[in-house]
Amino acid sequence: MTTFDVINPATEQRVCGVPLASVDEADAAIARAEKAQQSWRSVAPADRARLLRRFAEAVDADLDHLASLEVANAGHTIGNARGEAGNVRDVLHYYAAAPERQFGKQIPVDGGVNVTFAEPLGVVGVIVPWNFPMPIAAWGFAPALAAGNAVVLKPAELTPLTALRLAELARGAGIPEDVFQVVPGRGSVVGERFVTHPGVRKVVFTGSTSVGKKIMAGCADQVKRVTLELGGKSANIVFADADLERAAATAPYGVFDNAGQDCCARSRILVQRSALDEFMALLEPAVTGVKVGDPADEETEMGPLISAAQRDAVSSFVPGDAPVAFRGDSPDRPGYWFPPTVLAPIDPASRAWREEIFGPVVAVMPFDDEDDAIGIANDTAYGLAGSIWTRDVGRALRVARGVESGNLSINSHSAVRYSTPFGGFKQSGLGRELGPDALDAFTETKNVFIATEDC
Ligand code: NAD
Repeated sequence: MTTFDVINPATEQRVCGVPLASVDEADAAIARAEKAQQSWRSVAPADRARLLRRFAEAVDADLDHLASLEVANAGHTIGNARGEAGNVRDVLHYYAAAPERQFGKQIPVDGGVNVTFAEPLGVVGVIVPWNFPMPIAAWGFAPALAAGNAVVLKPAELTPLTALRLAELARGAGIPEDVFQVVPGRGSVVGERFVTHPGVRKVVFTGSTSVGKKIMAGCADQVKRVTLELGGKSANIVFADADLERAAATAPYGVFDNAGQDCCARSRILVQRSALDEFMALLEPAVTGVKVGDPADEETEMGPLISAAQRDAVSSFVPGDAPVAFRGDSPDRPGYWFPPTVLAPIDPASRAWREEIFGPVVAVMPFDDEDDAIGIANDTAYGLAGSIWTRDVGRALRVARGVESGNLSINSHSAVRYSTPFGGFKQSGLGRELGPDALDAFTETKNVFIATEDC
């Protein structure tokens, strides 16, 4: 059996080994899930709801433990990790309300009654990346389970620990073992099997755009349902009439949170030319003031990158001759550290401006007016998130409507909210997660006609 060594990215020490499943083991898990789903879909809605609420309560009772696992496994700051475990609890509570509200329609027709049912799909395969192992898993499994599906979930190779713990908590809460299974394994083995196995009726994939394209192509073979949450290169647009102090003070947290390993990172800052000098002067102390260090320390605001490979990838965007305007500090000891870094002036053709960096590096570019800002913001294959800073409400809404992105915040860098839809335009994804309509992505509409007249 192959084992994956889980490494603490803040110390480079081995945490433990996790066995990786083979194709046969993935097949066996899918077969168990298919069988279990037949009874899970028949569990009375109120009972399914009760079990999901119990699962949420078990997560809440284990919150500090889950958070400490994520600090050790992913280098997340303890404050963030607690928030992420709390997000799993909240997502479960939110979708626990769904089984009893899975309404169909009664549609007026001639000669009878016509109704629709929202039927579960069957087995749903959830493939999770390493950057937010807990919330991203829950955004898939909670609505999928609520809709009456069984779930097989593959965590990223680097970060399996919290997913494994969540599966234990689900079982303890009474969710039948085979209804929610976590199957650690390689993407090329277990992940691909979710795509090719006909028993998996839907794949929920969060990860890189390159792998997402392969998954979409693979799913086409069986017309398999797929939701994709992919990369981003989001713009933080600052107009001269904005509260510049607040815009500058918060800009680092809009991009350096989770060490920039965030698909919603506002990694391009667009500043109206007349305010550029003032904004940069305010941004410098905000960036150098970001506290980088031991993620277990309550004061820490930014931890390490996930791996040596990720640090190499991020470093490649900041070569020796890169236009570094200023940068913060990072510890000089073992751990995959990288300092918060601001690039300006930036060549719009450069990799750092065009590609997702997925690290604590942000580039700043001036713009002239609204049209220019929208044009620059949209000059990317991605379209996931973005922020707009201005005191002019009309302008805020015009620009928000103009930017081709799924999730925009005005005068803030709002995080993903479980009660609102989340997903990307263009190559940032396909479909939406979360919000009141998430169960639509985990059900098929069935239409039934009941004759009331003799034919
Ligand atoms: P990745 O694409 O390398 O891997 C993501 C997951 O897919 C992992 O579990 C991996 O094992 C699996 N995988 C890899 N190859 C596979 C294959 N051929 N078939 C099936 N599964 C396979 O991405 P990553 O490096 O783990 O995560 C970083 C990327 O994820 C970034 O691009 C980031 O923007 C994106 N991301 C997007 C969102 C979002 O909601 N839009 C959220 C988080 C991360």
